[in-house]
Amino acid sequence: MAGRKVQKRGSYQKRKGQRRERMRQRLFMVGSLVLLLFLISLLSGEEKPFFGIFGDWTVGADRVPGEGSGSACEGELVVTYLDVGQADCTVLQCGEHAMMIDGGGRSTSEEVVSAVKSLGITKFDYIVATHSHEDHIGGLGAVLDAFAAETVIFRQEENDSKIYGQFQDAVKRNGAQVIVPKPGLSLTFGDAAIRILAPDDSVFKEANNCSVALMVTFGEKKFLFTGDAEEESEEQMLMLGLPLEADVFQAGHHGSQTSNTQAFAEAADPVYVVVSCGEGNEYGHPHSEVIARFEELDAQIYRTDTMGTVTVRTDGSSLSITTQRK
Ligand SMILES: [Zn+2]
Repeated sequence: MAGRKVQKRGSYQKRKGQRRERMRQRLFMVGSLVLLLFLISLLSGEEKPFFGIFGDWTVGADRVPGEGSGSACEGELVVTYLDVGQADCTVLQCGEHAMMIDGGGRSTSEEVVSAVKSLGITKFDYIVATHSHEDHIGGLGAVLDAFAAETVIFRQEENDSKIYGQFQDAVKRNGAQVIVPKPGLSLTFGDAAIRILAPDDSVFKEANNCSVALMVTFGEKKFLFTGDAEEESEEQMLMLGLPLEADVFQAGHHGSQTSNTQAFAEAADPVYVVVSCGEGNEYGHPHSEVIARFEELDAQIYRTDTMGTVTVRTDGSSLSITTQRK
């Protein structure tokens, strides 16, 4: 009996030894594989060796990392360039998050408030006042009184106009925090990212060149806004070297030839250009030279004066555009 027991124990020890050996071999194989993958990713110049090669698995085919936020984007970003005549008013929606860049003039303020409500917006993460001119801030007082806002982005200007005073009073009444824009500043907007491009602090005194410029990125798609920034501010942005290339560019200063220089247009190299301007406006916006310049860059032009409100939707990898008219 004892002998059999010993024999049994002996074969048990043997099996245990064989199992340990197999385990060692497996561990060695796994270790070698990990080392091999690490070396391959190092040789292929991956930014994050090893983990980079699993990029497609961890990110997923339908998810694209958003710039700045470092997170993946879900759903879509909807950008509505409202037809507010010879003025600017753009509404951006990213999931539950909402943002407005300029509010049009005072004459369309009630229309803007109604349009925002019909888009299903009840509060804003950000309201950007690009500069102190009436065609950009005239409607913002009514918007700030009608909707809660977390943050208002604007730069204090030396402007004692009544409308600018009314806008500043509305910001105070609203209780939103104020962020002073600085080039390079990054902000999170849902799964989208905002990067401020201008104005460079107190370089310019004239209001147009003090315009807040910003890039909104959702997945692979980029939307560029420069308010009424003119040649001088465009040069400054080019000098700063922040990325300006965009899929959709709202033409600077309603398509004026005092903005949208060749160098800036080439740097932006947009696929689509949206011009916010009024039918038969007294400035002749958009100027034909500017339209020709963008067409030479193979951009497709959309205009609020002839097409009405322009809506751009993106899932982060593709874009679709609809217009109110035409
Ligand atoms: Zn303007």
